[in-house]
Amino acid sequence: MDTLKLSRFFMSLTTCQHALHAIDARKYHFNPADLIQLCREFNTRSLFMVAFQRLVDKKLYEITEADVLKMGNTVFIAIAQLRDVLEEHRHIVATEPPMIAKHVEDCNNPVRCAQDWYAIWWNGMGRFLLDGRCTLTFEEAFKCFEGLQFGQMAEGCKSAMLQLVKDSDAFLHGRLYVKEVATRLVNTLIMEDNEEI
Ligand SMILES: [Zn+2]
Repeated sequence: MDTLKLSRFFMSLTTCQHALHAIDARKYHFNPADLIQLCREFNTRSLFMVAFQRLVDKKLYEITEADVLKMGNTVFIAIAQLRDVLEEHRHIVATEPPMIAKHVEDCNNPVRCAQDWYAIWWNGMGRFLLDGRCTLTFEEAFKCFEGLQFGQMAEGCKSAMLQLVKDSDAFLHGRLYVKEVATRLVNTLIMEDNEEI
């Protein structure tokens, strides 16, 4: 970062690009708020998405006043609003088990099979996704969920439903929304991209 500031002092584009490449290679070592500030100051978009995603993944109380000053109010408000939307989406996924559209032929008791599926979803995915003390990602929650006992569900119904959940990527909507907001912010806040970076 110091090299970057020096490059601006000496108006050197090459040094600036070199410094940005060096930061890009070690981007996970930097505070994401610093990276957002850097993107805004040096008109580069390349680090914005990664830094923004890392900020969205943080708890709001982990973001300090100094971080807010660095990233700016617009970015901070967008993060706070996004976290609300993502939390709502997580609740919907946790509390709305996918329906069993069709039971396999050797499912002896479809009613009982469905009841067990819903109960295990509630007690499994519901608990894993909504546990405030230990928030798991969807992938982590699913991994724990598929290891549970599925009561009297027919083996074929259970496998089909687990595959359905695995393929559905229930959090995809959330991830796309984060990308959409980040793109809007980049287009609004960073007028000129340094194309050569
Ligand atoms: Zn069944």
